[in-house]
Amino acid sequence: MASDRPETGSNFLRTLIQGDLDAGRRQEVITRFPPEPNGYLHIGHAKAICVNFGLAKEFGGRTHLRFDDTNPEKEEQEYVDSIQRDVRWLGFEWHGGALFASDYFEKMYLLAEKLIERGLAYVDDETVEEIREHRGTVMEPGTHSRYRNRTIEENLELFRAMRAGDFPDGSRVLRAKIDMSHPNMIMRDPLLYRIRHAHHHRQGDDWCIYPMYDYAHCLEDALEGVTHSFCTLEFENNRPLYDWVIENTGVMEAYVGGRAAPIQTEFARLSISYTVTSKRKMLQLVQQGHVSGWDDPRMPSLAGIRRRGVPASAIRAFVERVGVAKANSTVSPEALDACIRDDLQPTARRVQTVLEPLALEITNWSEIAGDADVIWHRDVPYFWKDVEAKPEEHRRVPLSAELFIERGDFAAEPPKGWRRMAPGRTVRLVWGWVVECERFDTDASGNVTKVYCRAVPNTALGEAPEGVNVQGTIHWVSAGHAVDIEVRQYDRLFSSPSPGADGDFLDDLNPSSLTVLHAKAEPALAGSVPGDRFQFVRSGFYSVDDDSRADALVVNRIVELKSTWGAKESTAPAPRAAKPAVTGPVGDRPERSEAQEEIFQKLVGQGLSEEDADVIARDDGLPSWFYAAIVVHSNPVGIGNWLINEVQAARKEHGELPFGGAEVGALVALIDDGTVSTSIAKRVLAELVQSGGDPAAIVEEKGWKQVSDTSAIQSLVDAALASAPDKVAAYRSGRHGLQGFFVGQVMKASKGQADPRVVQELVTAALGA
Ligand code: ATP
Ligand code: MG
Repeated sequence: MASDRPETGSNFLRTLIQGDLDAGRRQEVITRFPPEPNGYLHIGHAKAICVNFGLAKEFGGRTHLRFDDTNPEKEEQEYVDSIQRDVRWLGFEWHGGALFASDYFEKMYLLAEKLIERGLAYVDDETVEEIREHRGTVMEPGTHSRYRNRTIEENLELFRAMRAGDFPDGSRVLRAKIDMSHPNMIMRDPLLYRIRHAHHHRQGDDWCIYPMYDYAHCLEDALEGVTHSFCTLEFENNRPLYDWVIENTGVMEAYVGGRAAPIQTEFARLSISYTVTSKRKMLQLVQQGHVSGWDDPRMPSLAGIRRRGVPASAIRAFVERVGVAKANSTVSPEALDACIRDDLQPTARRVQTVLEPLALEITNWSEIAGDADVIWHRDVPYFWKDVEAKPEEHRRVPLSAELFIERGDFAAEPPKGWRRMAPGRTVRLVWGWVVECERFDTDASGNVTKVYCRAVPNTALGEAPEGVNVQGTIHWVSAGHAVDIEVRQYDRLFSSPSPGADGDFLDDLNPSSLTVLHAKAEPALAGSVPGDRFQFVRSGFYSVDDDSRADALVVNRIVELKSTWGAKESTAPAPRAAKPAVTGPVGDRPERSEAQEEIFQKLVGQGLSEEDADVIARDDGLPSWFYAAIVVHSNPVGIGNWLINEVQAARKEHGELPFGGAEVGALVALIDDGTVSTSIAKRVLAELVQSGGDPAAIVEEKGWKQVSDTSAIQSLVDAALASAPDKVAAYRSGRHGLQGFFVGQVMKASKGQADPRVVQELVTAALGA
């Protein structure tokens, strides 16, 4: 699908807004980000923030920051403050001041009285347990509460008494009077208000009744004139109630000048493997002391991610790369890591640090330095040629006879293929001489304590005389000039891809998620302040932690230089905490070749699961299909799924296919923007397999566009009911299971093209009539 925003690519929410503006259904775009102030924000919220603020900004609209503080017990000012800090850190600013749902309590209350006056709400004295029991099941309708037929006058009087504080907690609720046999359980007389004698962080003790989420949220949107209310998929079933409350309270007419009501649209949650995206679970981690606080750099909280040193721009790039789609999926943390590397690679200064120091002495120092104790290399650049627009920044680096090198860069008995230091071997010191290792010392238990090397004359600064065979390049720092630093090596907080999948998520905590090293850094690091970011040559990206002081530097590892997760035992210099093997079929397979490994890492970096990335990487053809597809449409995860589940099968069956990756990209784009359903997309694929072509053209030619137009579907619904009067009667006499029959008939009549949700709604309405 061609997009007029090539830098960002299409997603179905963009398409939807554009459609609303083009058709004149909306004149402006107003979105909101509605966090409940009951904890710190996490990486999942970053997606909702980027979607709401990002889209509104793109279309010249605005976004409200509204605290959904309808629940008095768990909310606190600390959370309100932290949420504002996090949204600003991500680079967004809300319209006007921060808003609070609790500021609308009075209007919400008056609208609830309206519902009562219209005979659409009643006070119920049943207990919560009774109400739950009487709700029925998906298969069986519920039964009416014995208080359902109270008079309007009695209901009003009781509701007012509820507000006045006449009743204890839990003794009564206000319920909407909708339909106890509604196929959508949420519509079976949902609760609107409950009694809670609790202190509210803003309203104090003014209220002892509090509105339920489903009643409050839509009214908040309506009262603010929100046009597009984006939320995550788990609210899909709540949408009919969202619309019901707005329509039946008459909020738009009463308070918003009769403007068009907000429309709720759901998108997929962001879930990341090896992490948790839940405020409740984060709270547990903090309260039980598994981490040092909300901003512990291992936490999935935005505060933790920020403290770790991740730039906000990397988070925004990550959200964009993951994309906005309708199907829930889990993204690999490697995708985030890849965005962080892309962000820091051209911006973080490169310096030398030795994480696990081993002493090295240059035995012929006077031969190369004469009387000098130190040779200062001037003008050593912080950035190398691989950085495009390389900043011209330099520092001085001292070289002396006593150095530190990385313990892992020396092997007394080198294994086959060793490219670093060992007795008799020659290596280059980055920006320094070529040195040849002569001998080494050990302690009583055989540990190497010091190595001795001879510097090869005339090899300073990259010179390499004939006959000198350099086996590798290692980094170092001058012992007498080094700065001591505490290095916090973070690893994943959880060692299971889905923490808590089989039991308590706390059992899946990675016991070695933090290792502290006492390292040596080149003197250029002295004077660094919290927030400064560096690339430590050959090891990773680091940032100076808030705990750091001028005389005691502390740095956090943001991310390793290269992903080593799940890869075969790497040649990383420092010993690493044991990593669990990749689960599933991958573990039983032979190692990936080097080329396959490179593709695998790239795919995982794009957000594919390790399993999917493995399947594609090992295939001869799929990688090129994949790359051709994502150029057309940037939904790597969706495209990966289609390649593995559909295209692969077609290739097996038919061999050479008359289309390629570009068509797969175009097809997934049609699904993501709502043009076709998944089942129609499979039909398009079958056409492609037969005779190739352009997916959009096929849909057009065959007339397969998903139909959400209500009047077209309504006539199919009417026809379906008219052709089976006996079944309609049976339904109305209580056989509600027949609803599925009618939905099926309509879907069939539309040849699968009707939007199933619209069909469901219209069938329900028609049968109820
Ligand atoms: P949690 O379960 O962590 O408490 P929540 O959904 O209850 O999350 P809210 O404060 O209600 O948290 O969320 C504010 C907004 O952020 C909501 O619109 C919600 O849909 C969205 N959101 C929450 N988690 C995610 C996620 N993982 N991916 C995308 N959006 C999310
Ligand atoms: Mg919530």
